[in-house]
Amino acid sequence: MLYLFCGVLSAAILAAVCRPLFRKDDTLESAIIEETEWDLLQPKKEVVLGNIQDLDFEYKCGKLSEEDYRKIRGEMSAEAALVFHQIDEIESSKDLDALIRREVSARKNKPGAVQSAVCPSCSSKNPIANKFCAECGAKLKH
Ligand SMILES: [Zn+2]
Repeated sequence: MLYLFCGVLSAAILAAVCRPLFRKDDTLESAIIEETEWDLLQPKKEVVLGNIQDLDFEYKCGKLSEEDYRKIRGEMSAEAALVFHQIDEIESSKDLDALIRREVSARKNKPGAVQSAVCPSCSSKNPIANKFCAECGAKLKH
């Protein structure tokens, strides 16, 4: 059991370490950190769930005492809960981050938000919302 566990764990760690190296670099820089972290959690989740499955199987086969089974099962469930919680946190923050990015770019693309009105009289720049020039008071054309 322990031998199998170590084998699966080291395989998962190896996969987790190597996986980001083969990823296509097509994501935004700000998204790379959280995606890598998320990527690391995916195999971890598989391992944790696989271990629980193995444990259940071994218990059903009578290889484990009920006491051992309950003890290990409790530890594994706690670990699984932690991994699920971490994944959930990353996914929800990712959504929020994507939402902010979308809002920011929408503001940037909004006509008038960064434009300015040039005074026909003194050529100074005024906020587009101004009806009169802040420098000379001339009426601004829109
Ligand atoms: Zn002016």
